[in-house]
Amino acid sequence: MLYRLKTDFRLSIITLLAISALLGISPFAIMRFLQGNMLAGVVDLTIMLSITAGMVYAWLTGDTARSGFFMAVVASGGAVTVGVVVGEAGLFWLYPCLVTSFFLTEPRYAIFINLAAVIALMVHGAAFGSSVQMWPFAVSAVVVSCCAYAFAHRNENQRERLEHLATIDPLTGVKNRRSMDEELAMAAASAARTGISYALVLLDIDHFKKINDEHGHSAGDDVLTEMVALIEQNVRRSDQLFRFGGEEFVLLMSGVDHTGLRAVMHNLQHILHRFLRHPGGSVTASFGVALLKPGESPDCWLTRADEALYRAKACGRDQIVYADEVVAEPAAETA
Ligand code: GH3
Ligand code: MG
Ligand code: MG
Repeated sequence: MLYRLKTDFRLSIITLLAISALLGISPFAIMRFLQGNMLAGVVDLTIMLSITAGMVYAWLTGDTARSGFFMAVVASGGAVTVGVVVGEAGLFWLYPCLVTSFFLTEPRYAIFINLAAVIALMVHGAAFGSSVQMWPFAVSAVVVSCCAYAFAHRNENQRERLEHLATIDPLTGVKNRRSMDEELAMAAASAARTGISYALVLLDIDHFKKINDEHGHSAGDDVLTEMVALIEQNVRRSDQLFRFGGEEFVLLMSGVDHTGLRAVMHNLQHILHRFLRHPGGSVTASFGVALLKPGESPDCWLTRADEALYRAKACGRDQIVYADEVVAEPAAETA
């Protein structure tokens, strides 16, 4: 539970806001029932129950986008209803709701919900003593919403940028090892749930250090980016390529059997033989390939692919070795 609160930002915000709302509203609900204002008491109770339902839904399903949107609508709708039922004193609830909408849902939805709430209050009109009171309220509510929108929008951009920096390799543009760990875990979980087969290819460029030493680091960089482009052009869109580190890459493929996997691997090796060049000649790579076994952990899967790659290197490089098979596949003919 603590782990989910720490790792899922929106779930933690939903939980925090729901608990704060329940603690903040419950004294008023009790007070209204005690004062005999049954309608206002029922409104408060309905808001509290709806907020609790939204929070429970988020925890049970993990669908924080939908529950966040629902809770933003409940909070703003609730504030409008309180304003209408209680009058002027109830209007103050709208301000915290206008701001929290941006914590609960995407900025474009939040601004829409907020404007709808202000317009609903203005159209109904009963909450205001006069239009002199209504207009400053409406303008200040819109200003608060616009400021919160600008802040939330900027925050979202920065979060996306940070996420990009944290998951993408800057040189080649493919996902990095950190993303790979997550995707392998997801693939293992999906295989256990759906029975879809997954294959993992660990690829290491042969004698890459020599390319750097003889032709310079930027020539090595060009080889890396060209190889990534070649692989991406020749695998399915659903296949995922990751930079494992240095000149090692991982290709994750789904829905492939033994025969299909062999065809794909031969094709990839052939493409690299044909098109991958450095200033002094051709570039080859070694491949360790492992199909995910039932119930296997991502670590064991990767280790088997790594052992296969090790054998490919030991067998003279420019080889494809399938895990759990002793004999390495000889290199395909260079075109
Ligand atoms: P092997 O055939 O056994 O794989 O030999 P190798 O030379 O390819 O492997 P080794 O591990 O000895 O060298 C890898 C080199 O890759 C060393 C490192 O300087 C280079 N390298 C790592 N990352 C980059 C990079 O981003 N750009 C360039 N140009 N070189 C890199
Ligand atoms: Mg290498
Ligand atoms: Mg290496």
